[in-house]
Amino acid sequence: MTAELGDLYQEVILEHSKAPRNFRRPAAANHEAEGYNPLCGDRCSVYIEMDGEAIKEIGFQGSGCAISRASASMMTQMVKGKTKAEAAKLFEQFHQLVTGKDEAARADELGKMAVFAGVSKFPARVKCATLAWHTMQSALEHNKKPEPVSTESAREL
Ligand code: ZN
Repeated sequence: MTAELGDLYQEVILEHSKAPRNFRRPAAANHEAEGYNPLCGDRCSVYIEMDGEAIKEIGFQGSGCAISRASASMMTQMVKGKTKAEAAKLFEQFHQLVTGKDEAARADELGKMAVFAGVSKFPARVKCATLAWHTMQSALEHNKKPEPVSTESAREL
């Protein structure tokens, strides 16, 4: 991904990619889903401990490119403590950001995830950036391990 993204963006993404946050399966996880992006080979499993409507704990595991890992790492930080509805709203904003549909999505709510705005210039990378989010959404909807999610069959927002 060298020179694909701005230097600052690249720095944040590389840092998260090298030292992903919440890279684990929370012991009390009661929701999980598995995601796969065949275009790049990224794999991501998301584990969530739901407490009513709230995401009490969230973690992920998997392997993939720097963008997919960094996005997963930051996604877990963003949605932890949020409700299902809030997480869905954040995903919608993030999706608009990385597909370049909504500049306003760069607002404070997305915080440092705004570094992914540069991804909108590289359509093949959008799937890398959204994989963890699609998987998170699938995990929220299923309390048992469902069929793996593929970015090629995931519904587009
Ligand atoms: Zn990727």
